[in-house]
Amino acid sequence: MNIGVVSLFPEMFRAISDFGVIGRALNQKIVKLEFANPRDFAGDRHKTVDDKPFGGGPGMLMKVEPLKKACAAIREKLLCLSGPAEGNAVKTIYVSPQGARFTQQKAHELANCENLVFIAGRYEGVDERLIESVVDEEISLGDYVLSGGELPVMVIIDAIVRLLPEVLGNEESSLKESFQTGLLEGAQFTRPREIEGSCLRVPPVLLGGDHEAKRLWEIRAALIRTYERRPDLLAVRNLSSEERKLLAEYFKENASSLDN
Ligand code: SAM
Repeated sequence: MNIGVVSLFPEMFRAISDFGVIGRALNQKIVKLEFANPRDFAGDRHKTVDDKPFGGGPGMLMKVEPLKKACAAIREKLLCLSGPAEGNAVKTIYVSPQGARFTQQKAHELANCENLVFIAGRYEGVDERLIESVVDEEISLGDYVLSGGELPVMVIIDAIVRLLPEVLGNEESSLKESFQTGLLEGAQFTRPREIEGSCLRVPPVLLGGDHEAKRLWEIRAALIRTYERRPDLLAVRNLSSEERKLLAEYFKENASSLDN
């Protein structure tokens, strides 16, 4: 996969390129990350990339021409990397608080793309004509306003790249994760088996060798966690008969513990 980023601050991306899972994926060339800085495409001596908005209002806007040229340059670079094969399209995404909310499902969809370009806005955002002419999609991290698009772009890249085959050591680890199956991942434990005397113990079923019991415990733990923290996810889930049974058991136990 090839990822291009249009940003005034490419140095910020060291936060993902130099560390952890994403750093490793880049080192192993599972993913390639390229940058274009709109300042390098500004037409004047001062390398101006922003200007006052027409009609007044506070702040500055990113000018359309340097951004368009940076997008065209990075697009060319990605197409060179991926080769001219049919289907090697480039999807261009502008991160914006006005876009559709980013989800795990969207991360999966983008992880299937060969070439992605992300545009990180700054100031009060970008000239609308950039969105009209080069942007395929706008994505938001959430209902709040950040001072720049670099952090959202890094978050999205991280969420996508860890889904690529070979990036996470254990393929199963991403399958069990929150949102992957429409549930939150249940409680997890590691050594030691007990802390604070024997007050805080690892559930005995996880220490034994009964794989079926462990499987059922994990599903139940995921269901309970989702019920307690994100009932909205359960409300839209088509529960399997096994899940229905496990939840019913949980409700029954809870009702009887309230009775006692
Ligand atoms: N004036 C814009 C508005 O009210 O919609 C906000 C501009 S914001 C200060 C500057 C840049 O940060 C945006 O162009 C965008 O790229 C990025 N940004 C800010 N909040 C974001 C969010 N919630 N999700 C994605 N990108 C965001």
